Amino acid sequence: MSWFCDVELGPPIEVFALTKQCTEDTFEQKVNLGVGAYRTNEGKPWVLPVVRAAEKALANDETLNKEYLPVLGIDAFSSAATRMLLGEESPALVENRAFGVQTLSGTGALRVGAEFLARNLGKTVFYYSSPTWENHKLVFKNGGFLEGREYRYWSEKTRGLDIDGFLEDLRNAPEGAVIILHACAHNPTGCDPTEEQWRQIAEVVKERKLFPFFDSAYQGFASGDLIKDAATVRYFVQQGFELFCAQSFAKNFGLYNERVGNLTVVLNNAELVAPVKSQITLVIRGMYSNPPSHGARIVSYVLSNPDLYNQWRDNIRTMSSRIIEMRKKLREALEVLGTPGDWTHITNQIGMFSYTGLNEIQSLHMVKKHHVYMLRSGRISMCGLTPSNVDYVAKAIYETLTT
Ligand code: PMP
Repeated sequence: MSWFCDVELGPPIEVFALTKQCTEDTFEQKVNLGVGAYRTNEGKPWVLPVVRAAEKALANDETLNKEYLPVLGIDAFSSAATRMLLGEESPALVENRAFGVQTLSGTGALRVGAEFLARNLGKTVFYYSSPTWENHKLVFKNGGFLEGREYRYWSEKTRGLDIDGFLEDLRNAPEGAVIILHACAHNPTGCDPTEEQWRQIAEVVKERKLFPFFDSAYQGFASGDLIKDAATVRYFVQQGFELFCAQSFAKNFGLYNERVGNLTVVLNNAELVAPVKSQITLVIRGMYSNPPSHGARIVSYVLSNPDLYNQWRDNIRTMSSRIIEMRKKLREALEVLGTPGDWTHITNQIGMFSYTGLNEIQSLHMVKKHHVYMLRSGRISMCGLTPSNVDYVAKAIYETLTT
């Protein structure tokens, strides 16, 4: 007899299982479009030059040591991250009613935020877009939420946003429900609301007294412009909302495995900062006590040094423009082949991912027959495309849709 006899085998996590399968595949032309990590034109992972420079400087700084960080992390990092999101002039910052907390990347920020909301505000219901990043549900459930509900988002028919369905589902949400909103570059669809649609969304969120919890995993990485990619969060702050925003530095700094994140908290009264901060401290203390320093030091160093900051902005422009270029190339190749269907959505979408519109059977066929690894939902990571494999991928899609 073991204590563990009744433990059932859990389902594999699709994106990691797919990468493993791809790694083990010996087919020469295989393409990994599953994983959400940047690749160069040569298909290689990229450590940003500005990160290398910061690491060298930090390695030579004898004043740094390996003592514990405070529970809420490095203050210089979280303030810089919060300013990067909200803007220096943000009314919430000017009025001292916003702050940041260092977390274990974007996932950690979502988890800490969720647990605080469940534990301290008694929140039980969260809403997520259909579809969404698949981890949102698990993170919020593990954070103490009892019920996750979908709001309509993607329309198969138009391969675009179902704004009417979205607004209707929000209108039917119970007062106080937490709404997860993707700040930019929606994962997995790559389809964002327009400015006007965000205005409509904000109106309903206000009217129904819902709590907006933004997820910002792609600031700067999506459009190459840090301000543009933060515009929605800033708009909500201007509208007077209290909100949370989970920030990830995995993509825009290429610091995937360093787990650098920030939970930005915007309140409507500066007097609430101390009690809220103290309760978040207890959530983190009981979860992992305090965060690691390496990645946060890198980000903090770059954000506080004007020269490195400019280099970093060049680095993110390099990444975002390569992706935009690959979108153009893929669409062009599909159209030249006369692939059935309309492919404008490939270039209209933004960010790392694209919903191709391929269904599950077709996506599985892409993996099996063509060794093009993509999620069953039809999602591909644009980062896996390079000038040397884009034609191969387009041909594979053509064959899949025509035979
Ligand atoms: N939210 C979204 C929408 C994401 O796409 C990701 C990364 N795939 C994350 C959060 C979290 O990323 P990380 O924990 O690596 O920062």
